[in-house]
Amino acid sequence: MLSAADCAVLPVTAPSGAFWAGQWRRTARELEVHDPQDGTLVGVVADVTPAEVDDAVRAVAAAQQASWPLWQRREVLAAAAGLLGERAEAFAGLMSREGSKTLTEARREVARASETLRLSAEEAGRLVGQTLPLGDTARGAGRIGWWTPEPVGVVAAITPFNDPLNLVAHKLGPALIAGNGVVLKPAEATPLTALALIEVLLDAGVPSGRVAVLPGRGEEAGRALVSHPLVDLVSFTGGWSSGDAVARAAGAKRTVMELGGNCPVLVLRDADVAAAAAAIVSGAFGAAGQNCLSVQRVYVHASLARRLTTFVAESARALRVGDKADPRTDVGPLIDDAAAVRVQSWVSEARDSGAVLEAGGRREGAFHWPTVLTGVPASARVLTEEVFGPVVSITSFTELDRAVQQANDTAYGLQAGVFTREIDTALQAAAALRVGAVMLNDTSDFRIDAMPFGGRGRSGVGREGVHDAVVAMTEPKVTLVRVAA
Ligand code: NAD
Repeated sequence: MLSAADCAVLPVTAPSGAFWAGQWRRTARELEVHDPQDGTLVGVVADVTPAEVDDAVRAVAAAQQASWPLWQRREVLAAAAGLLGERAEAFAGLMSREGSKTLTEARREVARASETLRLSAEEAGRLVGQTLPLGDTARGAGRIGWWTPEPVGVVAAITPFNDPLNLVAHKLGPALIAGNGVVLKPAEATPLTALALIEVLLDAGVPSGRVAVLPGRGEEAGRALVSHPLVDLVSFTGGWSSGDAVARAAGAKRTVMELGGNCPVLVLRDADVAAAAAAIVSGAFGAAGQNCLSVQRVYVHASLARRLTTFVAESARALRVGDKADPRTDVGPLIDDAAAVRVQSWVSEARDSGAVLEAGGRREGAFHWPTVLTGVPASARVLTEEVFGPVVSITSFTELDRAVQQANDTAYGLQAGVFTREIDTALQAAAALRVGAVMLNDTSDFRIDAMPFGGRGRSGVGREGVHDAVVAMTEPKVTLVRVAA
């Protein structure tokens, strides 16, 4: 399955199978994991059945009842952050082999995931409740009381392929520091990195019964997991249509959903064009555009439109598309050939309806070249849907109000960027944009892992970001004392 050369870059135990009820397991059904770049086999993992999901959820629910003091949770998560740092090169190699990130991008993600675990450990100091103002009503006389944050119980975590480590850390870290048990169903394309992260957590000292990782298919294992009656909260990250199916299957359960994006960037009349163009190129083509924060739509003041388009198109053409492992590569493959074919067909559709191809448009296998379009009709899917590929559409405007209206004219609402030097205009635009976060003098493609993160409309339900995830994964428990007179 794995060559000696592969094993040299993999974590100490090459991950495979699944893990639940304190044991690594090999299951009757299995899924193969292939490198999207050349189709080579990278590993084999479990393809768990609904019966196996049931077994795992019951085991985690039972283990979650055992005491695990907060100080130990903090120490273990801090140790896990350190261990991940020590194994950074092995993780970057594994993530880049099974997924679509270049080695350079994978290294950056490992550093962020280690920080996410560190931030999760630090949440120990913020797991505080409050005393209740019972004296504010006559009926409260003779009583004192307070509330404390209690773990919800069992968290079902479902994650996508595009950030296969940090988005898993964003679920496991907060769930564990808050005292929960957690069952993870990673993406079909990238389960190996998730399995390796569970190894790190176990090596750091997470009680083995509290965590499970169940590779499997979304519509079978994922569905069985979110609809399980012993699951108390579903934390989902993925596309909107999968999220909608998850919400229906989960029923009346707590859910947090981080869904898709179709992020706009506004470049106003007084903006620094070169700085805006450089940031747009990085935000549109990083991770080959497979990023919920990817810059998909640019609205630029007409007076700057030609200069900006020329800058962006020239920079897009200069990007090196190729082998993920080569440090000189800027843009790797999409997650599979089908994804690249879909992106290519959306670009063709836009061109057939009048759009101008300023750069890119080429595809070979899973690789799609960075593509810049202008004159795109408002109904084209590259504007209305989430592209999730290296394609950016540039539209010019003369009235800012109209540009904000166009930016908001989408079912999504994750993040947006605005380039301008005028503070009043910047703040007015920020207030009018219907999104979870606005980046002034930057693109949509920026996130600090500690900030409240999430979107409106089809971009999500609730917020993550380490602290907000911890809040979502706890519930207030009130205790009142009737004091003897
Ligand atoms: P996806 O929706 O295809 O799959 C995500 C996960 O959901 C996978 O583990 C999959 O197996 C599972 N799944 C699919 N159908 C399911 C079902 N019916 N029941 C239970 N589980 C199910 O997404 P993807 O292609 O892996 O990732 C790309 C998508 O994720 C994009 O839309 C992107 O914007 C979104 N995303 C959002 C964020 C965010 O924080 N907002 C971050 C990263 C990715």
